[in-house]
Formats: sequence, structure tokens, C-alpha cells
Amino acid sequence: MSELKEGLAVAHLGQGIAVEHRGQIVLCQTLRKLDTVAVGDKVLWSEAGPGQGRIEQILPRHSLLMRPARNGKTRPVAANIDTVMVIFAMEPHYDCLLIDQYLAICENSKFKAALVLNKADLALTEEAEHDLSVYVALGYPLFKVSAKTGLGMDQLKQALQHQVSIFTGQSGVGKSSLTNVFIPDKDIKINTISASAKLGRHTTTAATLYHLKEGGDLIDSPGVAIFGLADLSASELAYGYREFRPFIGHCQFNDCRHEQDKGCAIRAAVENGTIAASRYQRFLKLKEKIPLKH
Ligand code: GDP
Ligand code: ZN
Repeated sequence: MSELKEGLAVAHLGQGIAVEHRGQIVLCQTLRKLDTVAVGDKVLWSEAGPGQGRIEQILPRHSLLMRPARNGKTRPVAANIDTVMVIFAMEPHYDCLLIDQYLAICENSKFKAALVLNKADLALTEEAEHDLSVYVALGYPLFKVSAKTGLGMDQLKQALQHQVSIFTGQSGVGKSSLTNVFIPDKDIKINTISASAKLGRHTTTAATLYHLKEGGDLIDSPGVAIFGLADLSASELAYGYREFRPFIGHCQFNDCRHEQDKGCAIRAAVENGTIAASRYQRFLKLKEKIPLKH
């Protein structure tokens, strides 16, 4: 077998996977059992012709983001993500239930999470300030930015350095506007990848990894909502509320559902104000709303 080289999977193309090696793009095929290569994967590949290669191995991942596939299964979208940037705004008005949901999934998937209030050029209500302060008190970094006016963008740029990030959030909050600020030459980059990989036409809905000018990588994954709560169990959901964690395992009964139960340590923490009642109420709502695993 020819020499194995390390590379980084940056995009899925029609005919293979674009793997970056020393600044060059190589169009790689995979063995069938490797059809689960995700953007962001570090791989070992061998040469298979000019500009062509074969992925022999996926190196160990420290995180993996899954997305539901058509056949009801899940498939990997992006690997080795460090931070999920949860984007939200006053318009369309953010939904704390949705934010909690993103955070719970991050907590269970070993992603760091940060909150990004976009459209900070629009006025914040007192209620919003309060909602945000609850998240900040929990230790989630918060960035107030405006893709439109440039407000707060330097801080966000800094936060994106030295790591791999991905943006998520409901449609209309400005994910593409923000992405365009960070990757102004996105179309050129996509064309370069496609051209280097000759026949490999880029599927625009697929995830693509971009190196940012100021450092750091951003995985752009337009279109589909990438998170599903259904993969969590009720106990994982509780774990996903990070402030619950010190109390988990301290309820009077082992099978405590943290609902109305007697001797519930989490409810006691809500009563004495250690846990924000708003978060606890949303935990109950999410538990009811979603088809959790057992
Ligand atoms: P996406 O669906 O999350 O990708 O959102 P878009 O980037 O398409 O933005 C949705 C709308 O919000 C567009 O009309 C943008 O012009 C607008 N928008 C994006 N960023 C800002 C911002 O910082 N301030 C304001 N006021 N509007 C913005
Ligand atoms: Zn309990």
C-alpha cells in the first residue's frame, strides 16, 4: 500500500469527499464501510492518481454531530466540533424552550455551547435581558452582535479562533448573514474546492468546513435543522440542564422523575432559588413535548 497521509475532510462532493492536505484539495473515495466520513474528520488517505485519493482510516473524533437521514436513521454531519454557536434574535422572537433544547443536546454531545444574540441593533426588552442573564449565570458565553451593523463582531471573531465551530438556530435569525461576514469569499472557496476536485460537484446543502481569515474553522451546514431531541433519554435531558447536575442522584428515590415527586433534590433546589424556576418549568415542558428514549 502507498504511504498514508493525514488530511482533513472539508466537504462532501457528488463523487467523493474533498480532503485537504497541505492546502491542496484531493478528491477521495472511501471504502464502503467508511461511507460515514463526516466533514471535520481527520483521515488517513493514500494516493490513487493525480489529485485523487482513497480514505483508509478515520482518526478518532472527539465529538460527532448527527443529523436525521431519510430512512429514519441518523448519519454523521460534522466531526470534531468544539463549539456550537446558538444564534437567536429578538426578531423572529427567540424561544427559550428551543435554546434550552440546543443546550441540552450540546451538554450531552460534548460540545461547548455559546449564545449569540444577533440583530443586537434591535432593542432588547427587560424580559429578554432577564432571560439572557439566567444563561450567563449558568456560565454560557453570550455575544451580542449585529451582522448588519458590525456591532460585537470582533469579540465573536475572537471566540471563533483556535477551534472548530458551527452555527445553529431557527430560520431567519441571521445565520447566513453572519456566515457571509466571516466567510465573505464563500462562493470562491466552494468553486476552488469543486475545481480542484475536478468532477466533484459541490452539493450546496451539505456541510462544508471553512478556514476563517482570522483563525479558527467554521462548519457551514445550511438548510436542515441539525438537532433532534428524540435521541435523548429523560435522564440525559436532566443532565442537559447543567445546573441540575449537582442534585442528580440526590433525590430520595432512585427512579425520581423530578416532577411532583416527594424528596426530589432538584425541586428542592428550585424552591430555594438555587435553580431558576423558569429553567425547571421548561425542563418539564420539554420532557412532555418530546418523544424521549427510554
Ligand atoms: P438565516 O435564515 O438564519 O440564515 O437568516 P438570514 O441571514 O437569511 O437573515 C434573515 C433576515 O434577517 C434578513 O432579512 C437579514 O437581512 C436580517 N438580518 C440579519 N442580520 C441582521 C442584523 O444584525 N440586524 C437586523 N436588523 N437584521 C438582520
Ligand atoms: Zn428528583
